[in-house]
Amino acid sequence: MSTVTTPSSDTFRINRSDAPASVADREAALASPQFGVVFTDHMARVSWTHAAGWTDRRVERYGPLQLDPATAVLHYGQEIFEGLKAYRQPDGSVWSFRPEANAARFARSARRLALPELSAADFLGAITALVDVDRDWVPSGEETSLYLRPFMYASEPFLGVRASRQAEFLVIASPVGPYFAGGVKPVSIWVSREYHRAGAGGTGAAKCGGNYAASLLPQQEAYAKGFEQVCFLDDRTGTQLEELGGMNIVVVNADGSVVTPPVSGTILEGVTRSSILTLLAEAGHEVAERPVLLDDLRAGLADGSITEVFACGTAAVMTPIGRLASDDFDLVVGDGTAGPVTTRIRAQLTDIQYGRAADPHGWMHRLV
Ligand SMILES: *Cc1c(COP(=O)(O)O)cnc(C)c1O
Repeated sequence: MSTVTTPSSDTFRINRSDAPASVADREAALASPQFGVVFTDHMARVSWTHAAGWTDRRVERYGPLQLDPATAVLHYGQEIFEGLKAYRQPDGSVWSFRPEANAARFARSARRLALPELSAADFLGAITALVDVDRDWVPSGEETSLYLRPFMYASEPFLGVRASRQAEFLVIASPVGPYFAGGVKPVSIWVSREYHRAGAGGTGAAKCGGNYAASLLPQQEAYAKGFEQVCFLDDRTGTQLEELGGMNIVVVNADGSVVTPPVSGTILEGVTRSSILTLLAEAGHEVAERPVLLDDLRAGLADGSITEVFACGTAAVMTPIGRLASDDFDLVVGDGTAGPVTTRIRAQLTDIQYGRAADPHGWMHRLV
């Protein structure tokens, strides 16, 4: 048994798997990685009880969890998660992108879901310890990475409706390939008038499974109509764009200015969103965080004053939107292909993440 000392000097115990994947199986998985299908040999884990706080920091063999049927999360959905990536650099080292921002957001999500807050030191300690043990699982192909999925759930076996007095925090990892195999391709978006993702005072700003559960039916219906993703509108007026089910949305005007809805409680504050806004402002774009009216978007796309629209998030970085439609309109964005601003900023951001460009903001964090 070995140990990894984390930034908090808390120690993650390493219990190595006695049945890791064979080199051949691992190499096969790394050669054609698919999102979230194959997982590495280990998982990081910390347990919490109301009485003892966070204890038992460890890395152990990846495998099924045994849950009492009364476990709170199965009944009331008290669960939160994060998503970030570990990127192989040209010199072989492995770095993540702004993980302290994910740690801070995880703590905010925990607070909203009445789960215990995990310190940034434990969050970073867990991903560092896991990537250290499973470093051979970090792929090195173009736009490949090791996707890290930290999550926490209410583990107390109790049906009473109150915050759980037990919780488990885990990190699992899956090698992933380029989101757009064969080049960045614009997606089609259905603007939902029937469903909302979040409401004032709700959980829209928290990264929790419940938000995703509620987005699956609208997503399924949009897919049946021939669209790939859903864009949700604000629940009060139904006139303002909010975001997609798992990505923020940004509009680029013909004059180069950029607009995105403000994070005012119903929108998830994306790390990609904030990083892109910084890069855009530095590149001389006027950047505004203000409500985006669907009517203005429709008019702008029709008269050409809006030239690009893209979605952004960790998984796909930036996804150009090529078509936007709802019951009463169907519009092509620009010429339906990825626009120059989207293409340029995407390349700039991925160059930083993969160590091909300087990192003037100190966004990159070495793991191993
Ligand atoms: C995770 C997520 C995003 C994107 O956040 P990133 O930090 O950029 O990955 C956007 N919207 C929702 C609803 C999300 O869950």
